[in-house]
Amino acid sequence: MFEKAARHTDHSAGLLKQIEMCNSVYQMEFPLRRDDESIEVVKAWRAEHSHHKTPTKGGIRYADNVNADEVQALAALMTYKCAIVDVPFGGAKGGIKINARDFSEAERERITRRYTYELQQKNFIGPGIDVPAPDYGTSGKEMAWILDTYRSLSADPLDSLACVTGKPVGQGGIRGRKEATGRGVAYGVREACSYADDMEDLGLKAGLAGKTIVIQGLGNVGYHAAKYLQEDGGILVGLAEYEGAIYNPNGLDVDEVMRHRKETGSILDYPGAQNIPNSAEALELPCDILIPAALEGQIRADNARHIQAKIIGEAANGPVTADGDAILLEKGAMILPDVYLNAGGVTVSYFEWLRNLSHVRFGRITKRFEQSLSLDLLRVVEQMTGHSIDPEVIAKVARGADELDLVNSGLEETMINAYREVRETSKAHNIDLRTAAFVTAINKVAVSYKEMGIFP
Ligand code: NAD
Repeated sequence: MFEKAARHTDHSAGLLKQIEMCNSVYQMEFPLRRDDESIEVVKAWRAEHSHHKTPTKGGIRYADNVNADEVQALAALMTYKCAIVDVPFGGAKGGIKINARDFSEAERERITRRYTYELQQKNFIGPGIDVPAPDYGTSGKEMAWILDTYRSLSADPLDSLACVTGKPVGQGGIRGRKEATGRGVAYGVREACSYADDMEDLGLKAGLAGKTIVIQGLGNVGYHAAKYLQEDGGILVGLAEYEGAIYNPNGLDVDEVMRHRKETGSILDYPGAQNIPNSAEALELPCDILIPAALEGQIRADNARHIQAKIIGEAANGPVTADGDAILLEKGAMILPDVYLNAGGVTVSYFEWLRNLSHVRFGRITKRFEQSLSLDLLRVVEQMTGHSIDPEVIAKVARGADELDLVNSGLEETMINAYREVRETSKAHNIDLRTAAFVTAINKVAVSYKEMGIFP
């Protein structure tokens, strides 16, 4: 992808090489005392792909198939993702080669704390150095262990909260982080649907309202994407989980489906919907928009031709293979690439980092002031018109923004601006959105290097 996109830029070969290569990788092996007193050696990595901006940023995944190449490739993707959404970080990624399910919570805590210790000793973690976050197999709990370990080792306790993001809210986390990726997916899809000429090229009308949607995976990203797309007027006609899929051309309510799944243990047999026992077949259902939000490699050479959706929104990382991508583009589909569409998570992580460094919750200082200012204005309107305003309207209008309002509006602004930039690049070079996203990213990183005076 990098090479394909680089051809649409005019940067020197040296600069492109600098942007492409991974700057530093720390590979470590450390002993773990297991609960049964046996010793196991754990292998782990942290890759910092690009220091054109610091700190570097990226999740840590716990998976038994993690390897050095994968960690470096994912770190590179983080560089491009951050550049696309104007998050001023370089890209990084961490990996610990374990299947998290094979270890007790106490063992996972020991692994996480030792990993943090290793990173700290080698200067691979810190609010201005490298800031990890959750990824596959990790959650807020691991981030809290990382924070606690880092803080106990750090000589600079003032800013140590900002050494990691995705923390629980009580531990310096930010409201809205959990739903951020799915919400960002919904904003991105809505923005893409708002251009009448682009939609016309696909044989669709402008606007999200009334468009039929199929979503694969109802985890954190898929569920929230479904919820916000539905709120914005999209019609969820198909929902797929690993146990099977359900289809109703008249629409499904995602919260009702989740309730049904909780009660029965499956999304199948949902009232009024058709069961599709082979979940993968849901990708081929008739719909306007398909959102793969589960796993990588879902749309490939063998099934891409059967995809009926005109718009594919890559909520998951890498859900479409290179072969699948070529076939979809040949069919005239629009692919909203992962490197843009699921960048809502890192965007809100950036807000969390800012919040930690400023030591104040967003909205804390301004909320009441904004509220009383709006109330004063409404009272003036009442006096001037001689009419009293409905208390419900007053309650809606006379309010100050709290942290969640500000996080969501910052995320919306980010996703809209980034889409516009990528779309403009795509039009200017007559290239697909994925290539355009990479061109946009490469150009932004190149500007940083040039401004540093390192490259002409
Ligand atoms: P998750 O584990 O919460 O959700 C994944 C869901 O997919 C689960 O509900 C799982 O049951 C379901 N699933 C698994 N196999 C399936 C199958 N064969 N068919 C249908 N459904 C299946 O994970 P998540 O955090 O929602 O992440 C999903 C994807 O989004 C991943 O590719 C991840 O890398 C990417 N992503 C996540 C974030 C984030 O902030 N969580 C950010 C960027 C990208």
